[in-house]
Amino acid sequence: MAHLLIVEDDELLRDGLSAQLMQAGHRISLAEDGQIALERLEAQSFDGVVLDLGLPKVDGLSVLRRLRERLPALPVLVLTARDGVEDRVAGLNAGADDYLTKPFSLDELQARLQALLRRANLPAAGAPRTASAGAETLRLESHPPRVWIGQDAVDLTLREWTLLELLMRHTGQVVSREDVITAWQAEPGDSSGVASNALEVYVHRLRRKLASAPLNIRNIRGLGYMLEASGV
Ligand code: CA
Repeated sequence: MAHLLIVEDDELLRDGLSAQLMQAGHRISLAEDGQIALERLEAQSFDGVVLDLGLPKVDGLSVLRRLRERLPALPVLVLTARDGVEDRVAGLNAGADDYLTKPFSLDELQARLQALLRRANLPAAGAPRTASAGAETLRLESHPPRVWIGQDAVDLTLREWTLLELLMRHTGQVVSREDVITAWQAEPGDSSGVASNALEVYVHRLRRKLASAPLNIRNIRGLGYMLEASGV
């Protein structure tokens, strides 16, 4: 059982989501606009959030950005109204863990959400790993998911963490797009698909977070990605 926050201004959809997820045994809190969502997030702790992007008062992207400042590891599934790639990219850039485009089936939503919740509850994936690539040392920490660049900690979402862990394990080697998607799917219960073009968004986001590290995530055209010391 998880405590979930559903943020959706469409009453019919909100009620449908609520009924479905309560049926699945979860405890549900509701918010019909972005302002109420922020208040609920401030006042209570949640295990996951279903967040519509098109919301009155405070839009979903702003809610997501503000939520991420304080709760970097909270699983967030974003609902986008259009099949527009801009919405998805903006949502992923703002820190969503996954997204669904309306209309979607409630079963699909439940499956995706379960996958996010299971991933969030994974025990620490082994001891913290270090990777020496360049003069600086990166150190990964799994609880909470973050990376240390020297003395600075940078918070990561779960998928960013898995991606970076894979790249660090293979520093100087090419990691294929399929390897990354397989690693995401290999996490117990993660049956949610990741579109191949979404991977670029995650890589882009990770590059920005690692901007102060003397490292590059190089795009190896047609093959995949490689972590290497910058300036090499
Ligand atoms: Ca809406």
